[in-house]
Amino acid sequence: MEPDPHLRIAIQKSGRLSDVCQHLLWKAGINLLFSERTLVVTSSNHPIDVVRVRNSDIPSLVMEGNVDIGVTGENMLCEKRLQRLERNQKAGYTTLGYLGFGQCRLSIAVPTNFAFTDLSCLQGCRIATSYPMLLKQYLHLHDVHADIVPLTGSVEVAPSIGMADAICDLVSTGATLTSNHLVEVAQVMRSQVLMIKHLGKLSDRNAHTLSAILKRLNGISGQAVTSPDHAHHLPGSA
Ligand code: ATP
Repeated sequence: MEPDPHLRIAIQKSGRLSDVCQHLLWKAGINLLFSERTLVVTSSNHPIDVVRVRNSDIPSLVMEGNVDIGVTGENMLCEKRLQRLERNQKAGYTTLGYLGFGQCRLSIAVPTNFAFTDLSCLQGCRIATSYPMLLKQYLHLHDVHADIVPLTGSVEVAPSIGMADAICDLVSTGATLTSNHLVEVAQVMRSQVLMIKHLGKLSDRNAHTLSAILKRLNGISGQAVTSPDHAHHLPGSA
């Protein structure tokens, strides 16, 4: 008989969310020995494999069922969901809850010398972003016709090198915008980190393991994995 596969949880390998996610799993009572090169880490006290990947791959891995659970930002989840819907790929998931960290907003910012009064000032502008789908949806909703310039990183640099007139990027304190002479003018969405689950049914053992983890996380203040599926509130959800 095939052995029952472990519960697979995807977290970011390296970046803003990696340390905090490793810490979260540790707080949930899951013993894991992380090393730089190991991409699948098996817990020594639970039937769990932690899969370390790029944050941008986590939504698709969950939607396709390559992993059971993923921890990622709503911003990435919504962007990938819109992208997958456009390509007629599976885009379903269940939201297990917000984890109380990774708060930021996806905002449009313009150079400080841009005479911005309202969104209509962006008509015909070039806007650089790593979130083209979310930006496209927002502009469409506000009847703004602008050119979206896709960039995978360092988006704040685009106006100063003449690549774009404005940007749409993640902001938390706003310090990066200020140092690049940019000012926030509109908010596309607010985001924080959440835990999502593949739509498929888990084995009894994995369902039991997941419920033990969620119970443990709920007991930790600030880590409220409480909300039921509220995916319909998120941009890009059905
Ligand atoms: P990867 O390179 O792993 O595919 P990434 O480019 O999204 O992913 P990070 O820059 O490490 O990687 O950001 C991870 C997540 O952290 C973001 O998607 C977002 O949800 C969250 N985050 C919180 N605050 C900020 C912020 N100020 N700037 C960027 N991301 C933030």
